[in-house]
Amino acid sequence: MVTLEDIRAAQARIRGMVRETPMRASAGLSEAAGGPVWLKCEHEQETGAFKLRGASNAAAQLGQAAGVTTASTGNHGRALAHAARQLGIPAIICVSRLVPKNKIAAIEALGAEARVTGASQDEAFEEARRLEREEGFALIPPFDHPDVVAGQGTLGLEILGQLPEAAAIAIPLSGGGLLAGVALAAKALKPDIRIIGISMERGAAMAASLAAGHPVEVEELETLADSLGGGIGLENRLTFVLCRDLMDELILLTEDEIAEGIRFLAAEEGETVEGAAAVGAAAVLAGKLRAELGPLVLLLSGRNIDPGLHRAVMEGER
Ligand SMILES: *Cc1c(COP(=O)(O)O)cnc(C)c1O
Repeated sequence: MVTLEDIRAAQARIRGMVRETPMRASAGLSEAAGGPVWLKCEHEQETGAFKLRGASNAAAQLGQAAGVTTASTGNHGRALAHAARQLGIPAIICVSRLVPKNKIAAIEALGAEARVTGASQDEAFEEARRLEREEGFALIPPFDHPDVVAGQGTLGLEILGQLPEAAAIAIPLSGGGLLAGVALAAKALKPDIRIIGISMERGAAMAASLAAGHPVEVEELETLADSLGGGIGLENRLTFVLCRDLMDELILLTEDEIAEGIRFLAAEEGETVEGAAAVGAAAVLAGKLRAELGPLVLLLSGRNIDPGLHRAVMEGER
């Protein structure tokens, strides 16, 4: 399991490998939510997403390994590539054919090999498993690993350090490493804080798994929130149980609602974010998330959106 002490140790370990990101008030979203709304601007993290926290915490604790490998819808692979380069070790990132080209190019630009294999996250993961089994690589998964959860949890410490009066944190939800880590840290410091998970309606594996009472597979569908795609793993060890036990509410969004979130954040707040990161704002704008019980923090988790896609969304074509 992961404890507050593990998360504090992670914070000390990755200091110098990650940025502390700013928290900004949003007048427009506060008005829409009926109470104060704050944006945790983690899309300004190095490599463009929070995943650098978990990847750095895991990679910094490796013993003897030929290198690191993972399967990733993009941001975790990019984060691990960056962390490996900082630590001077090789990285092979296995990605499915659904992963956008800009994310693959970004991995290669960081000096890692991007190995494109399989039609789903789970199939790409098989190649990472093989590298671990046959070539001595350390497999660092995108979410279901205690060191990764502890690393993402440093965001919970940071948020409450910046805004101790926070009453709720809205968190984009896919495999649940981010939600599990932030919830563990935040609830350890402030037991009555509300943790709200947000996913897209199309192909949300954690939502389907929670409804079934155990991890299930879902068909991977194209979505504006592509970083929220992918399965949670039928042998999920950690994040399914943590999300089940720590999440107070789960909100699902349509593609139109996510597009509106992306547009609002760019046009009104000047923040260019990817679909996964826009879900908090989207939920507020859709009337599915309020801030009447106290300050609400929306976690802007990443900025790695294809520029052409962002333009299409801004022009109302998506
Ligand atoms: C990975 C990711 C998420 C979801 O994180 P999980 O730990 O898989 O739930 C949300 N937003 C962005 C930008 C991501 O890259």
